[in-house]
Amino acid sequence: MLRSSLLFASRSPAARTLVETTPLTRPVVDRFVAGAAVDDAIRITRELVDSGRLVTLDHLGEDTVQTTDADATVEAYLRLLRLLQETGLSENAEVSVKLSAVGQSLPKGGHRIALENARRICSAAGVVGTTVTLDMEDHTTTDSTLDILAELRMDFPWVGAVLQAYLKRTEGDCRDLASAGSRVRLCKGAYKEPESVAFQDKHEVDLSYVRCLKVLMNGSGYPMVASHDPRLIEITGDLAARAGRKPGEFEYQMLYGIRPTEQLRLAEAGHRMRVYVPYGDEWYGYFMRRLAERPANIAFFLRSMLSR
Ligand code: FAD
Repeated sequence: MLRSSLLFASRSPAARTLVETTPLTRPVVDRFVAGAAVDDAIRITRELVDSGRLVTLDHLGEDTVQTTDADATVEAYLRLLRLLQETGLSENAEVSVKLSAVGQSLPKGGHRIALENARRICSAAGVVGTTVTLDMEDHTTTDSTLDILAELRMDFPWVGAVLQAYLKRTEGDCRDLASAGSRVRLCKGAYKEPESVAFQDKHEVDLSYVRCLKVLMNGSGYPMVASHDPRLIEITGDLAARAGRKPGEFEYQMLYGIRPTEQLRLAEAGHRMRVYVPYGDEWYGYFMRRLAERPANIAFFLRSMLSR
């Protein structure tokens, strides 16, 4: 119920104004977001890389309805990629892109515009020697995102994508994408989805996650296990060993600010551990999805509001 309300609020302009204008929201946001400026993103990336972790950077923004905003997002990614190269970080840091931020949700020709914009980002990533992963948004975008992935992979075979275990279709999508060179980031899923397309029960989502992970681990692609769930992390180790995968042949991924001690433990044990680092001004939707995931995050936020 609370999760549903927060996910509903994540797309409500009125709730957005309320949350954004509350002065004490900022310290809570800072726990999950690297900062507003690209320099903040570079500084945090440097700290994470120096501690043995890998990074994927997300320039915050989604549901863009103006072509100029989509263009500005592309420019922000091009600048970020140049800076990653100049600072020597492009070997250990890649970028994550939400297609709705680069035009997918534009009313006219959104799919084609997002494809061309994503292509520009991929070209720049190729030049600096890093990779791009396409985030997955709500289920109405899944087909379009997977079609764009297939188009991009013809020129940039290293482009990866997120699949969401809460969607009933995902086990099949994992089978389609478990081929050589394919990079799949498997997560549980963070949007409010109807019962017709998504498992609603947490346990069912976890079972689906394990089924999907088995497919990816037994395939010949590169699985990226995006979860903070201790049970799934343990199961990942077992499935990887059974599939004969060595530590460099899959990776763990977690969000910035969540379970940093566990991130370090995995990195120190010799695993590839990548942290998803969001930065920029458009933090609202991302932040509300993090609150929806975990009651402790909400309690932290409410305490900040009440202590005003
Ligand atoms: P949950 O069910 O949220 O948590 C399970 C357990 O993990 C908890 O019981 C607890 O033991 C532990 N845990 C979780 N959070 C914390 C915490 N803050 N502190 C301590 N322990 C904690 N979703 C999308 O829909 N699209 C995307 O493109 C996408 N990209 C992602 C990329 C990455 C790298 C990651 C890590 C997540 C991404 N997500 C995305 C979000 C994802 O779908 C989940 O909403 C989110 O990861 C929470 O699910 P979970 O697997 O961590 O498990």
